[in-house]
Amino acid sequence: MPRGRVQEYIDARGDELVSLLQALVRIPSVVTEGEGECQAFVEETLRPYCDQVDVWEPDHEELESHPAYFQRGVRYDGRPNVVGLIKGKGEGRSLILNAHADVVAEGPHHLWPAGPWEGAIIDGKIHGRGAADCKAGLAIALFLAKMFRELDIELGGDLSIHSVVDEEWGGGGSLSAVLRGYVADGVVILEPTNLIICPGCRGGQTFRITVKGRGAHPVESHKGVSALKKAIWLMECMDKLQEWRQEQWRTELFKDFPIFVPLVIGRIAAEEFPSKVPEKCIMEGLMGYHPQEEYQDARRELEEFIAQAARMDPWLREHEPQVEWLGLNKEGAEIPTDHPLVVALKDHFREVAGREPLIQGFPAGTDMPYYVRYGRMPTILFGPGEPKDCHSINEAVAIDDLILGAKIMANFILEWCATA
Ligand SMILES: [Zn+2]
Repeated sequence: MPRGRVQEYIDARGDELVSLLQALVRIPSVVTEGEGECQAFVEETLRPYCDQVDVWEPDHEELESHPAYFQRGVRYDGRPNVVGLIKGKGEGRSLILNAHADVVAEGPHHLWPAGPWEGAIIDGKIHGRGAADCKAGLAIALFLAKMFRELDIELGGDLSIHSVVDEEWGGGGSLSAVLRGYVADGVVILEPTNLIICPGCRGGQTFRITVKGRGAHPVESHKGVSALKKAIWLMECMDKLQEWRQEQWRTELFKDFPIFVPLVIGRIAAEEFPSKVPEKCIMEGLMGYHPQEEYQDARRELEEFIAQAARMDPWLREHEPQVEWLGLNKEGAEIPTDHPLVVALKDHFREVAGREPLIQGFPAGTDMPYYVRYGRMPTILFGPGEPKDCHSINEAVAIDDLILGAKIMANFILEWCATA
């Protein structure tokens, strides 16, 4: 029975999976410049276990002409995608395992428990930038490729591994893989969901609102209009929009989240010079989109809300604030919770973990929409590691969860890609 052999293999070789993840963490791969070395390692690791390996640099011109790509001027030289294919007998469903090789910047080194690029093990957890997001998933994908080859298990359908770049920035890696024509009957993106099965994720975009006032010397401040005060007033009004959108979009997948379509201002800046009534103020923030929502509609909602709020204020009525949309944008995406992909993963989770899986939406932007909306492929997010620790100095993954995740995926693949 392949299932018994797979469990035995993972039980016996758990240490290899841990070492593989440590090796990946030890290659810094900060987004938009540094993924090359990590992808070379992925290519080298995959080559002996795959029937084909495709390595290419995404074409920024092709990406920039696509409606789902919003970053401009990003280059991909030295930042290739790697796709490994393990051919099936051609009689079963095919599957793509996706994980991103890029990570966000590591921040101050001294704040980390053992440095960002050490892959140190502390209290049963592997620490480091990317340990969870998304190199735990990437390590699982590479490890399973090796396992299927070494155990000589022939799958019915094709199994592909998409190790992509740029997820933390514009998403150009995954979009480029979809545009290259890769298709499958199902996709699992191995993001750190804390082993929660996520058949949907929210989207979001950053924006800038420019508010004008009337500058004045402090001695003439009664003649000025503070753009900063007007901006703060608008920011408070925006809480109402967030509240309304939360009520509007609370679906089953997001029922347990206090906030799932956030509207947050992260940056506010007026004059450089403090002794002045500021004549201009800039606010920048993030607007989250529900997976069922079109981003164009959400954008319009914010623009109309700001225009409406401005009409309530005599100054702003005459000096309408400007809303601009910035480059960082991801759409949301979702598939039905009773989709066979979700059902199969649930079954194997229950069997391997011995408990009921949680099914929830993922409260952040991911590469899922490229596969779902543009590749027309059913997709779920599933992987070890807690999303709340990602991008922080506490980023880590529990070794037990890493191994459990690998076992669940291995069983799931055996069924999903089985000979029909
Ligand atoms: Zn990620």
